Amino acid sequence: MKKTMTTTAGNKVSDNQNSLSAGPRGPLLMQDYQLLEKLAHQNRERVPERVVHANGSGAFGELTITRDISKYTKAKALQKGAKTKMLARFSTVAGERGAADAERDVRGFALKFYTTEGNWDLVGNNTPVFFVRDPLKFPDFIHTQKRHPRTNMRNNEAAWDFWSLSPESLHQVTILMSDRGLPKGYRNINGYGSHTYSLINEEGERTWVKFHFKTQQGIENFTDAEAEKVVGKDRESSQKDLFEAIEEKNYPKWDFQIQVMSQEQAKKASFNPFDLTKVWPHDEYPMIDVGVLELNENPQNYFQQIEQASFSPSNVVPGVSWSPDKMLQARVFSYADAHRYRVGTHYEMLPVNRPLSEVNTYHMDGSMNFEEPNYSDAYYEPNSFDGPKEDASFAEPPFPVDGDGARYDHREGNDDFTQPRALFELMSSDQKQQLFGNIARHMQGTNEKIINRQLSLFEQVHPDYAKGVKEALKSV
Ligand code: NDP
Repeated sequence: MKKTMTTTAGNKVSDNQNSLSAGPRGPLLMQDYQLLEKLAHQNRERVPERVVHANGSGAFGELTITRDISKYTKAKALQKGAKTKMLARFSTVAGERGAADAERDVRGFALKFYTTEGNWDLVGNNTPVFFVRDPLKFPDFIHTQKRHPRTNMRNNEAAWDFWSLSPESLHQVTILMSDRGLPKGYRNINGYGSHTYSLINEEGERTWVKFHFKTQQGIENFTDAEAEKVVGKDRESSQKDLFEAIEEKNYPKWDFQIQVMSQEQAKKASFNPFDLTKVWPHDEYPMIDVGVLELNENPQNYFQQIEQASFSPSNVVPGVSWSPDKMLQARVFSYADAHRYRVGTHYEMLPVNRPLSEVNTYHMDGSMNFEEPNYSDAYYEPNSFDGPKEDASFAEPPFPVDGDGARYDHREGNDDFTQPRALFELMSSDQKQQLFGNIARHMQGTNEKIINRQLSLFEQVHPDYAKGVKEALKSV
């Protein structure tokens, strides 16, 4: 049946082509509510873009578990044979919405699993480590990635200034400046949960875990020169690549793997396993196959399903939990808080964010509460009116903490060089040349004092690293 256009209040619209005017030449009449509503809605068609990871692409898919890891976790979505509908959102970090996709930058790899026990979000990147290990440094770091307040231009000098004063960034800087720092598209990256999380089994035993998603499409990257040509013609190369592959039923897949570490092993590890600037070496903590992630459905509406998608590491399910990682602890707060501000207080009610399982909170008013009204005297807790109650069977086992409350110097006694050295040493000579050239080009316009401070950090990773960058700087 042909549908009639209406206003948002359901009033039928008689004319959507001609505004209401006094005489054919105008002026317009204030009572043309259809015109006023259209213009007012247009003014409100955007929500604030994400402060970081603003430019992104996403798709729906499924996580299938093929191996038995029940000795580590009781999570229903992680039991052998389980299939869980999920959403993935990929992104660049620094660029605003509409920035070019093919830029040298970390890629976000955010996953939301709609499990029968509530939503489980893993908000990872295509790199296993990060630039800082203390969240107190995070807003400062992000300022260096954004625009200079006066020039309104991106400012690589700020990045090198911050990095050269923060040796903990060396590992991530080396990955960012390597061939993998400029991926061809989102299908050709690995995803890493990056943080250490915990898995909890039926017996209440906790095991520390790292999550990995290895691309079945193979890692593929652009050189700086290739990316320049791509961006000249196509600013949404990663969006196009992902969208079109899924439209063509060429569904991208990732092998889901974990590394585990017992609480005893963690105490004896030669590095802090909760430090986001460190990986867990594969030979000591081997990869365990768990399953496959497949993306097989494009969103129907980008704004509703991707722009409004709200991922937060605060969303965990029974059998999965957090760790003492300071960066993770801060993200548990700041991600959900960003969505409350950006999308709205009740952002979890939107269809893309809403869990499949029941939601029973005592949160009340606030903008856009569009829950069906369901009258109850149980609008506080505890109450005598049969309202939802806590259930102690969902309690986590106690987690170990030790030490006095203090501001501990996170740089003291921390080895920031061994792991970047291991990465540098595994690069082929061609990869090393790319690394040197990428750094030298990125450093253009940076003052010499900052460059020299950074070179002395590269020197401590490996003399060939500093030497290679120095040589490359002569020829850019
Ligand atoms: P391994 O030799 O077992 O692993 C090396 C890893 O490095 C592989 O996973 C490989 O990924 C990855 N890699 C290769 N080139 C690059 C690059 N340009 N940028 C980022 N990663 C790359 O050694 P270890 O586990 O002992 O780790 C050695 C170093 O490898 C670490 O210090 C770290 O920098 C890096 N790395 C380690 C990871 C880990 O979880 N242990 C994960 C990713 C990197 P692939 O197999 O896909 O080719």
